[in-house]
Amino acid sequence: MSRPLIYAANWKMHLGPAAARGFIERFQALTRPEEGRRLWFFPPAVSIAAVCEALDGRADAAVGAQNVHWEAKGAFTGELSLPLVTEVGARIALVGHSERRHLYGETDEQVGRKVGAVLKAGLTPLVCVGETLAERDAGRTEQVVVRQVDAFAERVRDWEPVVIAYEPVWAIGTGKTATPDDAAQVHQLIRFQLGRHGVDRRVPILYGGSVNQGNVLALLAREELDGVLVGGASLDPDGWAELVGLRG
Ligand code: PEP
Repeated sequence: MSRPLIYAANWKMHLGPAAARGFIERFQALTRPEEGRRLWFFPPAVSIAAVCEALDGRADAAVGAQNVHWEAKGAFTGELSLPLVTEVGARIALVGHSERRHLYGETDEQVGRKVGAVLKAGLTPLVCVGETLAERDAGRTEQVVVRQVDAFAERVRDWEPVVIAYEPVWAIGTGKTATPDDAAQVHQLIRFQLGRHGVDRRVPILYGGSVNQGNVLALLAREELDGVLVGGASLDPDGWAELVGLRG
């Protein structure tokens, strides 16, 4: 069997409950569970329950929240807590996506708190790290990614549920993708840094940033990649079914 791979779909602010249900019904008709392949869906929070229902307990699939607060309850208007998203079926939480970091000013400190809270709640954190174009051009990719990893690593006691996504900010939604070599190099760096934190298991590291049907095979040909996190190319059920079905 080839190595296990995770295909994560980040729908961002698209697909309300009716559209999300329609997506999953079509996707269900096009695909069957495959050994070693995990399918993760991150719908908008209002569609989490609809996606869970439409997946109907499908064993290879799981649903996640795109963002959570670290507090379990309280006066945090507009925020969602882990108990709330868990109640509607989320089992994973995306943490520190670059749009949260850069559009909403989420700090390394907040990302660390969220990771700690997700683990405490018994969910899987999918933690995103990645440099901006300016940071890359300034030769600071390594420094930034290491800082982002360090900021949440200190909150983790048990690494078993943790999954990381390397998403260079300049590649998200831009049509520019890191080359397989560039991606693999940063994945190696992240793994090396995890080793410095005493992590002795293979934490899955996904790549994200303009992944599509045309480039996914070349990326996944690098064994440093344990899957992909996909925005734009995950919004259409036929295209997503095709993408997750491509195996080298
Ligand atoms: C993302 O949202 O995490 C992402 C990688 O988006 P896109 O695939 O559209 O670049």
